Amino acid sequence: MLKYFTCIMCPRGCEITAEVEDGKMLSAQGNFCPKGQEYVFQELTSPMRNIASSVLVEGGELPLASVRLNGLIPKNRIFDVMEEIRRVKIKAPVTMGQKVICDVLGLGCDVIATKNVKAAE
Ligand code: SF4
Repeated sequence: MLKYFTCIMCPRGCEITAEVEDGKMLSAQGNFCPKGQEYVFQELTSPMRNIASSVLVEGGELPLASVRLNGLIPKNRIFDVMEEIRRVKIKAPVTMGQKVICDVLGLGCDVIATKNVKAAE
């Protein structure tokens, strides 16, 4: 059976066609580099994702600060992590790169701020 993937390992976004049988990749075409095959293998075995969202900021010149993970999490844990992020409220000022949640849900990566938010004057 042919399956189609868009590699997300770099901005090039290669469209990959893979021949898959019993969940195993037999061959792949369309990837510009070997990482594309690694990506397809991971998608077939244990897909991983990064996520971006925002958290509430208390006393800031903006009400929200954008955040993202500094690593990948299993795709099937995205909603759990989004729920953790939704519960968080941090105090201004917020600095880009600041850890907002350390080792979120024990998944081995942190939620970090991707925007500066100054304290309200
Ligand atoms: S296959 Fe290689 S070049 Fe293509 S998107 Fe993936 S990492 Fe980038």
